[in-house]
Amino acid sequence: MNYIIQTHQLTKHYAGKPVINQVSMNIKEGEIYGFLGPNGAGKTTLMKMLLNLVKPTSGDISIQEQPIMASSYTYLKDIGSLIEYPIFYEELTAQENLKMHCAYMGYKDQNHIKKVLDIVGLQQIERKKVKEFSLGMRQRLAIGRAIVAKPKVLILDEPINGLDPIGIKEVRELLVMLKQQYKMTILISSHIVSEIESIADTIGVLNDGELMEEISMHSLRTKQQATIEMVVSDTKKAKRLLEEDFNANVQIMDARTLIIQQVHKKTSTITKHLIMHDVDVDEVETLHQSLEDYFVKMINGRDQYDSFN
Ligand code: ATP
Repeated sequence: MNYIIQTHQLTKHYAGKPVINQVSMNIKEGEIYGFLGPNGAGKTTLMKMLLNLVKPTSGDISIQEQPIMASSYTYLKDIGSLIEYPIFYEELTAQENLKMHCAYMGYKDQNHIKKVLDIVGLQQIERKKVKEFSLGMRQRLAIGRAIVAKPKVLILDEPINGLDPIGIKEVRELLVMLKQQYKMTILISSHIVSEIESIADTIGVLNDGELMEEISMHSLRTKQQATIEMVVSDTKKAKRLLEEDFNANVQIMDARTLIIQQVHKKTSTITKHLIMHDVDVDEVETLHQSLEDYFVKMINGRDQYDSFN
């Protein structure tokens, strides 16, 4: 497996307290990695460490298989980023801002600027100064600036913030296009699951500085599909049968109810199996939990965070 970004037990303390705690994350080349977590979880801090804007307290980072040290900077040429609130030259136009950025990055292909402005939907505003831009326009320009030098990796901290629904859809489509056509690897953070679940290949869930889960969307969907709630006459016997015979993950919820996960059998097969072994099945329900519910439960199970939204 080719990982383009890896961290190993990455930790950052502020005032002696961990804000990022022993995070080991693995981002595959060419994927969209959705970095989820409530406000204050530490997403921005971790992204800043990847960009060498914040020095880790301990742990390692490697990008394109190169260890990142305090003095590393050449690797940044291959990374486009948008962190927190983008700052621009307010008296200049979008095009002029991108020109300045290309000059700074040593990127020569100036013709590309017009194409990027088209891609991010900022065409026909040649005369407008950035100080006259709406929040959505600024966000689009920030994404344009992040991609203008054709980076291999894009690191975007909540890039969908401040966009209207059409803008959100356009940014999603843009990121998928960048992945497919330009083979970019994209790390995108969000505190709203639904914003990125349709485009992410892998999800990393950060809470209170800890990476609670790192899972491919494919595995996550399989895991979700297979959640069944059953009311049976003998929960202990049913649990044993399903675990031993179907390798299922079974939780006893109360005297009559089971939650069954990761069982790759039809509900009818499970029911028949139990009945054949003298366990009555009174009710069966397939649970369709949204991804949002799944993460909120995961987070709330651990501490008092309200929710992602
Ligand atoms: P948000 O979505 O609200 O931006 P986040 O997940 O990006 O949240 P961070 O901005 O990384 O979270 O902040 C994580 C924690 O680290 C917060 O409690 C924040 O107050 C703290 N923190 C961040 N930067 C500093 C700093 N320079 N000094 C002290 N504490 C900091």
